[in-house]
Amino acid sequence: MATEFLCKICRGVLNGKTSIILAAQKVNSSKRGLVYLNPEIGNYTSFTHPSFQLKEGEEYIYTCPICHAQLNSTKYNHLVRILMIDDDGKEFNIYFSDIAGEKCTYKIRGAKIESRGPDAGLYGKYFDVPEEDRKYL
Ligand SMILES: [Zn+2]
Repeated sequence: MATEFLCKICRGVLNGKTSIILAAQKVNSSKRGLVYLNPEIGNYTSFTHPSFQLKEGEEYIYTCPICHAQLNSTKYNHLVRILMIDDDGKEFNIYFSDIAGEKCTYKIRGAKIESRGPDAGLYGKYFDVPEEDRKYL
């Protein structure tokens, strides 16, 4: 089974063969479009149509292209959450920054937290919680 990335609300599959496809809108702007993210954790190459380009340092609201639910976390400021199901059928929470250009990813299953990217220190504090509280993440 290939890795799947799912919307946290509708559990619709967000990835095609080579990209995770999300709808994005710049905060306080009407500019919106589709963003194609690399599904490899820690690979931050992404692309968009030339008519909609992500501007480094700007914040974006990500939504599911299937159900239109907002994917930005209401709990963790500046992080977006989607789900990942790996080859073995294990489910993870995947968090990444809603600020264009910030390279960090957190892959979480239960108490196990894996962080990736040169900017992982930016939001690592969110997940630095006592073991017994991790089930609430
Ligand atoms: Zn959805």
